[in-house]
Amino acid sequence: MVAMDWPEVENEFPMVLGSNLAELGGRKSSVDRDATIRAYAQAERGGADRCTCNGCRNFRLARMRVFPPEFLELLDRLGIDPRKDGEVYRNARLAPGRHNYGGWFHFIGTLDAPDSDSGLVKFGDDFSAYICRATAPRLPSLNQHPVVQLEFNADAVPWLLDEPEAD
Ligand SMILES: [Zn+2]
Repeated sequence: MVAMDWPEVENEFPMVLGSNLAELGGRKSSVDRDATIRAYAQAERGGADRCTCNGCRNFRLARMRVFPPEFLELLDRLGIDPRKDGEVYRNARLAPGRHNYGGWFHFIGTLDAPDSDSGLVKFGDDFSAYICRATAPRLPSLNQHPVVQLEFNADAVPWLLDEPEAD
């Protein structure tokens, strides 16, 4: 990886700087988008699709309306397939038909920034994300690579399963 100066970014809008540099919420990392795309293509299923609990089955139905367009754009620019999360988990029902979920993805690269700051970026009122060091289980096809973790939190996941809503 070639060392270089980072451009100053004035707003906090999530963005990827060039094809092999990423910044989110002031945290910077390298990104190997092509290698990430290959690893996701090799992964048969993501965490939500391997789990049979009602929370994960509901998320499979809801995710493409839960991920904001700007987040989907970020995933695309990192080389991440939005349907192949590392894992998702339902935390709570905030109101009828409205659930809080967390989850994460990984991409191939290395984090340059310290983990001390929050680095949290809001994608609208109900969705936030940040990048951090990889600590959580990843897709098997990413095992042989250095990866960065992209965590998300969603506050307005609808209940779309045709079965009783979880508490
Ligand atoms: Zn599950």
